[in-house]
Amino acid sequence: MDHFLYRDGALFAEDVPLSEIAASVGTPFYVYSTATLERHYRLFDEALVGMDHLVCYAMKAASNQAILKTLAALGAGMDVVSGGEYARARAAGVPGDRIVFSGVGKTREEIAQALSGGIRQFNVESEPEMAVLSQVATQMGVTAPITIRVNPDVDARTHAKIATGKSENKFGIPIARAREVYAKAAALPGIEIIGIDVHIGSQLTDLEPFELAYKKVAELTEQLRADGHTIRRLDLGGGLGIPYARSNEAPPLPSDYGALIKRTVGHLGCEIEIEPGRLIAGNAGLLVSQVIYVKQGEGRQFLILDGAMNDLIRPAMYDAWHDIVPVVEPEPGRELVPYDIVGPVCESGDTFARGRMMPKLQAGDLVAFRSAGAYGAVMASEYNTRPLVPEVLVKGDHFAVIRARPTFDEMISRDTIPEWL
Ligand SMILES: *Cc1c(COP(=O)(O)O)cnc(C)c1O
Repeated sequence: MDHFLYRDGALFAEDVPLSEIAASVGTPFYVYSTATLERHYRLFDEALVGMDHLVCYAMKAASNQAILKTLAALGAGMDVVSGGEYARARAAGVPGDRIVFSGVGKTREEIAQALSGGIRQFNVESEPEMAVLSQVATQMGVTAPITIRVNPDVDARTHAKIATGKSENKFGIPIARAREVYAKAAALPGIEIIGIDVHIGSQLTDLEPFELAYKKVAELTEQLRADGHTIRRLDLGGGLGIPYARSNEAPPLPSDYGALIKRTVGHLGCEIEIEPGRLIAGNAGLLVSQVIYVKQGEGRQFLILDGAMNDLIRPAMYDAWHDIVPVVEPEPGRELVPYDIVGPVCESGDTFARGRMMPKLQAGDLVAFRSAGAYGAVMASEYNTRPLVPEVLVKGDHFAVIRARPTFDEMISRDTIPEWL
């Protein structure tokens, strides 16, 4: 459930009509609902009640300071994957002991940054990383808490570009080698093993791959403890999927996911961390765009929007489906026509949908892409020198611009001209 509903024939974000935001901010823009963000965070938090736990929001899904502050105020931790994200989390007031650092390519500088700023744990993804972490921590005279990310070789049955838990993926160490790698870690100075990490992919619409992975982690926990390691924390990653097409998808509920966690690893007495990103932010955001032209092509009609692949790349990159709805509610029984919905960018890949059945629209009409809150604004670029799409946050009947659209001058002035020109 989200808080983007039609009222009296107009689409609202909570208590604010989208047309009002469009008039004030211009299009395209992203808009997020505070109530939806909070609700989704709480669903996870409540799903783990009874277990010592921390929900670490995977902030790569949507990392605006205002979103981070909204979640941090509820007690959320953060899962970061770069020095930039670490700095964003700290700037939003998240204490170091609520930040976990994931990612296959942490640099020395990023490691030092997190060690000096404070960190809950590093999720180590390889032996070379472990060696560097040990060196940096030793040089700094500190001890780095770590889990090691194991790759359980489980098929997440999701899009190939967002599957991470098969042996051919770059992530983690093969679970079959875990005991050997933990033994090496235990022998290194400057690091302290505290647990195990696993993350098998994103947009999982079925709980079974989680079940397989978590059972393997439970088994590994017992083996590692028998080997003499302290395993007191399990980071079970993120990845729970959301319904992108309202009409025909029903992904698992956070409560079922929580029950699965209790069933598979609850007996181990470990502190549990999870790292949901998409399920917290995805349905909490829309991309709102305006129709520039309706163009009659050969045998097809194009709806040309002012939003483009640089603003929302998911359809071009993952063949992702987004429900696209008119901001003015169509009357019931209104005839639907097929549109190819495209942006103005000079690439044929700049296509959001083909043959999408929509009520008849005309230039100037507003449309909203649903489920665009995660991996939307964060993946936006200025390709074609299109200004980075602004972001707006709604709370009740208030809204605020949380990232302004840059002016052309601001964009151009980021370039510098060498002295010889
Ligand atoms: C991307 C990512 C997540 C979040 O995945 P979602 O599908 O957005 O929940 C969590 N943990 C790690 C390590 C990730 O890379």
